[in-house]
Amino acid sequence: MKYVFELFLLTIIVLLSLHHVSIMSGVRVEPHMARECAYDMVSKAIHIPNLIYFIPSTMPTTSPTTLRNGWLEILKCLNTSIVYENNNSNVLITAYVIKLFRNTIWVNKKTWNHLQIEEQTRALIHECSHLAMNTNDYSYIHEDSFEKLRGIRAEKNADTQTIIIMNISQFKC
Ligand SMILES: [Zn+2]
Repeated sequence: MKYVFELFLLTIIVLLSLHHVSIMSGVRVEPHMARECAYDMVSKAIHIPNLIYFIPSTMPTTSPTTLRNGWLEILKCLNTSIVYENNNSNVLITAYVIKLFRNTIWVNKKTWNHLQIEEQTRALIHECSHLAMNTNDYSYIHEDSFEKLRGIRAEKNADTQTIIIMNISQFKC
């Protein structure tokens, strides 16, 4: 009975690390069409002359320079990131990153190949914004709270960055 607590702790640690390993596993894939499309969209967004008009009024302190600098980092991410297809049945989301691994994006085998190229593109830009601009998921586009994000929380929200970029390209590459 002496080591019950230690054993319990050890079990928890093993379970946690197993879970972690399984979300980090996968086969390397190359979504080159989505990657190219994302690259085109982000490049277009960086070079658009009237970028200021695309910044939502909910982000009054965000300058075009801040966005362009962040998006340049997204381009680097799109150029260099490695994509793994994960087959873990517990993973429900389409794509994800672990910020500790700056160069890696995981996609969900169950859903990824059913997505349109535009949706894969959106996912890559979203995930690269996490890695390259340190964005968070304060709110997703389909949530009511999305429109209510203000200031730095809007600027640091992955879907907000993604939508600004995709809007500029009119969701086409
Ligand atoms: Zn996210």
